[in-house]
Amino acid sequence: MNIHEFQGKEIFRKFGVPVPDGKVARNADEAEQIANELPGNICVVKAQIHAGGRGKGALTELPDVHGVKVCKSADEAKAHAEALLGNTLVTHQTGPAGKLVQRLLVEAASNISSEFYAGIVLDRSTCKFCFMVSTEGGVEIEKVASETPEKIFKVWIEPGANLKSFQARQLAFALGMKGTQIRSAVKTFMNLWNVFRDKDCSLMEINPLIVTVENDVIAVDAKINFDGNALYRHP
Ligand code: ADP
Ligand code: MG
Repeated sequence: MNIHEFQGKEIFRKFGVPVPDGKVARNADEAEQIANELPGNICVVKAQIHAGGRGKGALTELPDVHGVKVCKSADEAKAHAEALLGNTLVTHQTGPAGKLVQRLLVEAASNISSEFYAGIVLDRSTCKFCFMVSTEGGVEIEKVASETPEKIFKVWIEPGANLKSFQARQLAFALGMKGTQIRSAVKTFMNLWNVFRDKDCSLMEINPLIVTVENDVIAVDAKINFDGNALYRHP
């Protein structure tokens, strides 16, 4: 079972994983209102579909319009929302038919210094959970895995055990984090693991996990899949 990015970010917020401030819009007026309420003038309008690659993806109806757009004013956010809603977004993950955009996430724009990848999966070959990070964030991780696998750093978690703080530190060091970034990243990795465990996830990807110019560590994207066999525990 899949959920949208905005739903994943709601869960992250409850578990202490920092995400940008933002809200869901179902029409262009709501998008404008949310953009006005957010601090600062710059916001990001993001199509909510069950597929990644939205930033590079484009509308079938309007090929110049992409699924993720940094907007410099509420007017621009409204115009972009009007273009996206009710149209079909095609990304490398949707197939040529694309997906209908019915909802948007309008959120505060982060001041990105670096983009990283973080993910947790069940590694069936070792019967353990694998928590992995890469300095190659914001790009397709499948491409990194096939072309430069040495750029993905992994730690494993035994069934019934937890991510250990020394492992979380190893993940932060693998990303070249320095000073206060290390403590923020360690806390975020521990909290991401708590989400994965408590919500019976089968896959979690944060691409990108960013460090801001202000040295904050923030989950800017959120992909979460759940283990269907455990859904009865989460009505
Ligand atoms: P997708 O993976 O579907 O393309 P993302 O949420 O990863 O969607 O967004 C694509 C890119 O847009 C990110 O790699 C990041 O560079 C930028 N971006 C997304 N959200 C924000 C934000 N809140 N602030 C700044 N940049 C953002
Ligand atoms: Mg992404």
